[in-house]
Order: sequence, then structure tokens, then C-alpha cells
Amino acid sequence: MPSVTNVCFHGIGAPGRELEPGEDAYWVSEDRFRRILDEVATWPAVRLSFDDGNASDLAIGLPALVERGLRADFFVVAGRLGQPGSLDDDGVRQLRSHGMGIGTHGMWHRSWRGMGDGERHEELVSARQRLADVAGTPVDAAACPRGQYDRRVLGDLRRHGYARVYTSDRRPANGGAWLQPRFSVRRDDTPESLRAEALAPAPLTRQVRGAAVGVVKRWR
Ligand SMILES: [Zn+2]
Repeated sequence: MPSVTNVCFHGIGAPGRELEPGEDAYWVSEDRFRRILDEVATWPAVRLSFDDGNASDLAIGLPALVERGLRADFFVVAGRLGQPGSLDDDGVRQLRSHGMGIGTHGMWHRSWRGMGDGERHEELVSARQRLADVAGTPVDAAACPRGQYDRRVLGDLRRHGYARVYTSDRRPANGGAWLQPRFSVRRDDTPESLRAEALAPAPLTRQVRGAAVGVVKRWR
């Protein structure tokens, strides 16, 4: 399967909820978002996603995608549905009705590393079920909250039958692979900076190092 570039957005415009520490680094202005979308739409093989289920997914993200004939997967935090600043059930259904994919980003946006049995069930089973009920379709893709995972997390996700799992490891992906690294767009990114990082051939040393430390990456 050929290489693809996964690009992930978070919030756009003004947040409608209190952000987690460090999260503002992943919120982009509306103008920046549209310019980056125009840029990545020209790339040969790109997959788009939106994490966290922010209200801006529907208010700003969806119209911009539809205008450009683009599709994206939305990884929603199930426990935030209907909360201020987040999508509600109807918003998820609107995304679906426009052909967008719905995946799970867990129940509470906590790290999936080091969970106990109860937390694990809530995050990997209950959240997925709630989203499937709301969307009216099975949910078989997950994005690891805060980009954190380890061998145990991946084993659990496989055991629960997830078809594809997205991380935030900032390297190209094999389009057919189960594990999909993504480039998360940051507040300071420009179309040019993102292109330079995501499309430039990585030096061999970076590729090897990226592969070795994939399990300890931090945010989103
Ligand atoms: Zn997230």
C-alpha cells in the first residue's frame, strides 16, 4: 500500500470550553485552517482527521470540507457530547450525513496508558458504543488521546476489534496499515511549514529514530 500523509486538526477559531494545559498550541485560526486545508488538498495522498469533538468541527470544519469536496474522519470524545464547546448528538449525525467518518477518541480524553479494568472498559468499549448509537453506524477506528499509547493499549485495541488506530507520531503512514501516524497541525504552522515537514523525505536517521520512539510520544 502506498504511503499516505495523515493530517489532523483540533480546534478552530475561539474555544468554547476551558482548554487542557498545552492544548491551545493545537488550536488554529479560521483563516489559517482554510489556508492549510487548501494546501493539503493539493497533496497526492492525504487523509484528514479532526480530534476532540469540538463544536468548531461542525461550525467551521464541515462547511470548509464540503466546499472543497474533501472527506475527513472525526474522532469524538464521547463524554463531552452536548457539553458547551463540543459537538452534540445532532452534530455527529450531521457530520455523518455529509459522508464524514466518526471514530472514537475515548470517553474523557485521558491517556489510555496505565488504565485499570473499569477505566479501560469505559474508554475502549462504552465510549465506542455511545458514539455508534449516536452516529447510527458501527465505530471501528480510534485515535489515542494525547497521542499516548503503549504495547498494552495497542493490544487492547486489537482485542476489541478496532480496524484502524491513529496516533500523532508525525511521520508518513502506510495507507493499509492498522496503525496510522498523523501530523497534528499546530497553532504556528503555515501551509509552507506543514508541507516542508510532512512531504520532505525524512533523513534516514530521523526515520529510524521515529520508529524507535513511537511508543513514548506525548500529546494527542
Ligand atoms: Zn485529543
